[in-house]
Amino acid sequence: MLEEPTGDLNQIPTTIPHWYDPDGSPLTLESGDGATVFDDDGEEYLDFASQLYCVNAGHGNQQIIDAMTEQLEQIQYVSSSKHSPVRSELGERLVDIAPGDLSHVMFSVTGSEANELAVQLARKHTGGSKILTRWRSYHGSTYGAGSLTGDPETRALVESHAATTGSTKFLPPMSHPSPFNADSPEELAELAADHLEFVIRNEDPDSIAGIMMEPVAGSSGGYPAPPGYFERVRELCDKYDILLIADEVITGFGRCGEWFGIETEDVEPDMITFAKGVTSSYAPLAGVLARPEHVSGVQEDGFDLGQTFGGHPVGCAAGLAAIDVYEDGQIDNVRENASLFEDGLAELESQYDVVADARGRGYLWGVAFEDPATGEPFYDPRVDGDDVENPVSDVVSGLEDRGVLVGTGRPATQILLSPPLCTTAEEIETVLDALDAAITDAF
Ligand code: PLP
Repeated sequence: MLEEPTGDLNQIPTTIPHWYDPDGSPLTLESGDGATVFDDDGEEYLDFASQLYCVNAGHGNQQIIDAMTEQLEQIQYVSSSKHSPVRSELGERLVDIAPGDLSHVMFSVTGSEANELAVQLARKHTGGSKILTRWRSYHGSTYGAGSLTGDPETRALVESHAATTGSTKFLPPMSHPSPFNADSPEELAELAADHLEFVIRNEDPDSIAGIMMEPVAGSSGGYPAPPGYFERVRELCDKYDILLIADEVITGFGRCGEWFGIETEDVEPDMITFAKGVTSSYAPLAGVLARPEHVSGVQEDGFDLGQTFGGHPVGCAAGLAAIDVYEDGQIDNVRENASLFEDGLAELESQYDVVADARGRGYLWGVAFEDPATGEPFYDPRVDGDDVENPVSDVVSGLEDRGVLVGTGRPATQILLSPPLCTTAEEIETVLDALDAAITDAF
């Protein structure tokens, strides 16, 4: 027999912080304007994480808000079995800005679901089942996407709960800390691509449907691939009939100075998955850009892979307006100011022996910290658990005390700088000075 619940149910908190702050309560953010957000005491912070690398157009953008309001007033929702002009218009716009002949768009709601959709399309098209992804990568946290993820903590949790999607991991082309003993970026590209071919051959190429990668690593540390790496990956995909899926959930929509991060690599992917920046996070929206032949098999078989809120009209209206905003100067702004990050972070790297590596592209940068005495990161959550103090978290809180929010990497031995695309040169200089001071205080 069911027992009556006891206790005062009103005492159960109605808001549960999603992000756990070991030092106290999480910051309560109440409003925002451009690259700045304000807390409940009116304190202002430069949002150099764009929250979760997603508020690309900046906070409080009236053009996007107006477009969403107009859509809401017209019709708030149209199911995927009916025609919605705003959805078609966004689809066409995405195809226009996408590289190569990615002429089909399928919408979903989150980045995790977009990646799972890409997996389904790749499996259907190739007849293979396995998807290869990089160790330490992040592709989402739902059961399917979580097992694509190479970040050990996310992956371990998901796999302790569920059967996996059959994803095999390979070593990333990271320069620091590097799993390869290379003397130059070019050699790193060759060694990492040779390793990938070794994995492909050992997994049985016919069993592999796709290789999924972020063009510039996001939460695993902001590192771009060494020159020539993606060309080799493209060659391997062609040689073994495997689809190349670019996870552009973070790197898309101007974040790295182009519409999509893969454009810098001079290769055409078979699919691009997108989310976050497509609406600048004014509404949840995600999807897959694919070649026609990769979608047709699914359509011919009459599979309906859609979701109720996939391609929601209000999200589509936000997407169209956000793309206008990026086009009208924000991507140019990233291109003009990206070198400030490159130069400023290189200076910190040469100034502090705890700064082991600073890398990135456009407005997506990672700073990795290391103990100079051991040459190792200060903390490895998988090995050290919660027992070891991580001084990198002092850099993060020192920045917050100075009015700057940054992202913490996976693992949290690095920080990520990824501001809205409207961020000015002056704001970047302010944050670099604050970082300098926070590092001095923390070590
Ligand atoms: N792919 C990448 C590269 C991401 O960074 C993320 C989320 O941070 C995802 C996929 C998953 O997106 P979502 O959190 O919208 O499911």
